Amino acid sequence: MIMTKIGETEKELLDASLRAMKNAYALWGFKVGAAVFAEDGQIYEGCNVESWVSGLGTCAERCAINHAVLHGNRKIKEIAVVMDADSGAEPRPCGACLQYVSDFAVNSKVKVVMAQADKDKIMFGTVNIKTLEELFPFAYKK
Ligand SMILES: [Zn+2]
Repeated sequence: MIMTKIGETEKELLDASLRAMKNAYALWGFKVGAAVFAEDGQIYEGCNVESWVSGLGTCAERCAINHAVLHGNRKIKEIAVVMDADSGAEPRPCGACLQYVSDFAVNSKVKVVMAQADKDKIMFGTVNIKTLEELFPFAYKK
């Protein structure tokens, strides 16, 4: 098991993501929570919201970014995503969310903090931190 050293911001983002994950509306997928550290210094969280119509719902990451935008932010400095360990999925943003993060990131060095959660606890042994450019080196830009 690789232990990643995490700072106070990462811990706060993971805790906010975990709280948001509890409100996820998962019909056929699994619960995901996310949180962004925005330009105003606040944390905005989001959860996935699914629909019975495939593709109509939204991911937790985009929900969190929309939440930040709603409060007047256009730039995010860091993002965390937490997935329920029962899902068996390796926590990471999907391709659509990586593009969305790229659209709103202050730069390509923005940290993406990923972890699994077991019930109401972050599993710190699963924390993985990458930069946006490591995960998504060729973002679409007009
Ligand atoms: Zn996504």
